[in-house]
Amino acid sequence: MAAPSSILIIGSGVFGLGTAYTLAQREAYRDTKITLLERLPFPAPDAASVDSSRIVRPDYADAAYTALMAEAHPHWRGDFGAEGRYTEAGLCLTQEGADSGENRGAHYYLVKALENVKTKLGLEIGRRDEGGQVELMESSDDVCRVLESMGGDCGSRGYINWTSGWADAEAGMKYMRTLVEATGRVDFRTAEVSRLNYGSNAVESIELISGERLIADLVVLAAGAWTPKLVDLRGIASATGQVLSYIDITQEEEDRLAGNPTLLCETNGMFIIPPRNRVLKVARHGYGYANFVRIPHPERRAESGEEIMVSLPRTKQDDPHLSIPAEGDEACRAYLAKCIPDLANRPWSQTRICWYTDTPSGDWLISYHPKYSNLFLATGGSGHAYKFLPVVGERIVDVMSRQNRDELGKKLEMKWKWPETRTENDHVWTEDWRGGIKGMVLDEEFKKGEARVVGEPTRGRGGQTEVGMAAGGDWEISAAQYETQTKKGPKL
Ligand SMILES: Cc1cc2nc3c(=O)[nH]c(=O)nc-3n(C[C@H](O)[C@H](O)[C@H](O)COP(=O)(O)OP(=O)(O)OC[C@H]3O[C@@H](n4cnc5c(N)ncnc54)[C@H](O)[C@@H]3O)c2cc1C
Repeated sequence: MAAPSSILIIGSGVFGLGTAYTLAQREAYRDTKITLLERLPFPAPDAASVDSSRIVRPDYADAAYTALMAEAHPHWRGDFGAEGRYTEAGLCLTQEGADSGENRGAHYYLVKALENVKTKLGLEIGRRDEGGQVELMESSDDVCRVLESMGGDCGSRGYINWTSGWADAEAGMKYMRTLVEATGRVDFRTAEVSRLNYGSNAVESIELISGERLIADLVVLAAGAWTPKLVDLRGIASATGQVLSYIDITQEEEDRLAGNPTLLCETNGMFIIPPRNRVLKVARHGYGYANFVRIPHPERRAESGEEIMVSLPRTKQDDPHLSIPAEGDEACRAYLAKCIPDLANRPWSQTRICWYTDTPSGDWLISYHPKYSNLFLATGGSGHAYKFLPVVGERIVDVMSRQNRDELGKKLEMKWKWPETRTENDHVWTEDWRGGIKGMVLDEEFKKGEARVVGEPTRGRGGQTEVGMAAGGDWEISAAQYETQTKKGPKL
């Protein structure tokens, strides 16, 4: 397939910047003019790719992502992760309470992820002090032993992968940008795209907020959770807001906690990433909040007046005073109080709603558009793409070039392809296993009453109170049984 003479990438997050990096280096694209547009000065503070931390792990229930992580991990352990950009302090995956009811998915996810890191990566099971890389925690005492310095109840069961870690997300993005700049092949512009002008089967031009129009042979749409504003993704991908909260801690507290693994509870999606620069983060990998807005139909001429309803991000760029809903605040507070009781009452120094681009399956959307031949999408991160930053561009450009190097490439292309059907609802609530409640709408949550008492259980999916998961049960459950229990494991 002949390389286009010009490629314009919209969005400088993991997908856009990663794509630019690979295009800039591939021989086939050496004569292609590459332009990268970003609406805010880099790094955009409200982009999903920009934050203090992101989990880096191969612990996936889906073996294709475990295999992709095996490509990315050596980079994190090398130059890419140097100077504090990557910390390999382990990842402690836990569940809570009874292994039944709505919560079975959490246990099955752990089982499947464990099976993958054992069989696909060959990691050794056993206590770290005895040479093990993956340690099973069969009881809350085991969990407490590993996370002793937190001083609380961090879960009833799970496993810890000492070969996982976390990345300084903003620093990783800045590093990637220096790599792209060093190629000298990419023209960076700070400019917001207001719309794409569509012809019957191709994008005719890209219109900026300033009114300027740009033309390119190929347009790569990598605008993260803002993508549904520029192309009709109803029933395919949608923005969901996730809560993040940060507290300031003392140097003594940091010395005590910084060496811990990241803690991620599969039952309720809550997680705590170890502190850096005396800041500790508590967050939730949940179904998130939809933020419905009515916008002009992105693919119709402006004169048509046709409008559609989609969920799009609302961030501190739109409202500097934006906080998080009481529901999310309480969930973070309750988890902090439970796991690190002596920090229970420390006020948040900052909160944020960060936006996933969720797909129904949790798989990304890396594909040509079926109707517009010069439009390629690189989006649908579904809350788990950051960790692949060093290598994701390679796999994206493989799909773009219609060149699959190997079996993994074929599998990924199938997972990432434009779906044959759209889900019935315009808004996508992922089928991935997540914490929190499915169906929350941001404004409705803001309107709800005062915060509940700290420590009161958060509500489970479908408005049900979450049932706890008891310790006990079978680690060796078969994959087939797993598939019938939960379609997919959660990704983060
Ligand atoms: C709270 C949270 C926690 C997460 N945790 C993890 C984790 O632990 N591990 C992990 O691997 N992944 C994690 N992720 C997921 C990961 O961060 C995302 O999948 C990834 O960053 C998505 O990258 P992106 O390029 O699609 O989007 P973004 O990073 O949001 O980039 C899109 C860019 O497009 C720009 N843009 C938007 N509209 C326009 C326009 N009209 N014109 C020009 N530019 C535009 C935006 O400014 C932005 O910079 C998490 C995400 C969130 C939100």
